[in-house]
Amino acid sequence: MTQKTIPFSEKQLAAIIESCPTPFHIYDEQKIRENARNLIRAFSWNEGFREYFAVKAAPNPFIIKILAAEGFGCDCSSLPELIISERAEVTGENIMFTSNDTPAEEFVEAQRLGAIINLDDISHIDYLEECAGLPEIICCRYNPGPLKKGNMIIGHPEEAKYGFTREQIFDGYRILRNKGIRRFGIHTMVASNELDPQYFIETAEILFSLIAELTKYLNIRFEFANIGGGLGIPYRPGQQPIDVNIISEGIRNRYDALIEKNGLAPLKLFMECGRYITGPYGYLVANVLHLKETYKNFAGLDACMANLMRPALYGAYHHITVMGRENEPADTLYDVTGSLCENNDKFAIDRKLPKLSIGDIVVIHDAGAHGHAMGFNYNGKLRSAELLLREDGKVEMIRRTETIDDYFATLDWGKMADFKV
Ligand SMILES: *Cc1c(COP(=O)(O)O)cnc(C)c1O
Repeated sequence: MTQKTIPFSEKQLAAIIESCPTPFHIYDEQKIRENARNLIRAFSWNEGFREYFAVKAAPNPFIIKILAAEGFGCDCSSLPELIISERAEVTGENIMFTSNDTPAEEFVEAQRLGAIINLDDISHIDYLEECAGLPEIICCRYNPGPLKKGNMIIGHPEEAKYGFTREQIFDGYRILRNKGIRRFGIHTMVASNELDPQYFIETAEILFSLIAELTKYLNIRFEFANIGGGLGIPYRPGQQPIDVNIISEGIRNRYDALIEKNGLAPLKLFMECGRYITGPYGYLVANVLHLKETYKNFAGLDACMANLMRPALYGAYHHITVMGRENEPADTLYDVTGSLCENNDKFAIDRKLPKLSIGDIVVIHDAGAHGHAMGFNYNGKLRSAELLLREDGKVEMIRRTETIDDYFATLDWGKMADFKV
């Protein structure tokens, strides 16, 4: 069972807040590195195993650089994400470019960096060839449709916008083969925030079987199978974390039966987890600005859904710790809100917390992936800073708070005077 822990004391946090006012996100480097090593160790049986960190989960080049030092590549889906990877010195086949509805200039940039391009649709073969030329190695994204049940965040595969149908995937690789490509990979991703290890074992099995069929039918060779990301994390205290060793063991078993026995080895196994890698090791730190008692008790923070959108977007649970009150009874019911003029701007609804006072510091857990990254400027909200708790205990700012000047940077105030109405 997971206990929600915090890598700093109340006193340490007070010192951090002195140099960087709330709200901010803070990431725990040591825990992120340990987690990365555990994942790589779990799959060490597979020569060539690689995790391509989904940059969208925590698109900060400092974090990417740490993960690259641990041996991770990058999974990118946009031009800025490709630039982040390049700046973190992740290039070539250490980048998977898994994008959809892709603009030409992004394919061009992915090609320039030598990234492995993962095509989302059969029509993208011609599109890519026209805009950037065909690469030496290529991957197609498979959508198993009704063959696989989806989950809450990602929905049913047959309704998802991603990937080739089963029929198209055979046509796609045939066309690519006939165009002279010789190096192939295959990808699928059908889960998000999934805590059942069986789900990923089945996903690998689907890809391994398909590789066996495609190889036989088209006489091509696959170098890798990418089972995507989507490993979940225990957002609620008491939830069981997913055991990557169980996933690994199950996949190894299918690998032996479907890849090794069919003479298709070696096949590299790729993953592109985001949430699982950094999610539990990032915290949103905020201050209780107001306490309001009307029909309910409201605790108003200086952070809002622009800092962490998941509760408002999916009704997601994020655990909240009130610093210094860990041992007090959680006996008061609160809606914990931000200041957006949107009634769903709430970090928690009907959450039992210790009795709060104005000025209390709250730590919102599991904000290390799809947290700061989903930030936005609606209602004139400025993006908060990102801090990194280094392994030596020092704290480094890895992104400053946005300023009002940043917010207005795309406006030309000078034109206002001449703007006749
Ligand atoms: C979002 C995404 C990921 C990462 O998802 P997590 O749930 O953070 O693991 C990986 N691959 C693709 C293609 C994605 O769109």
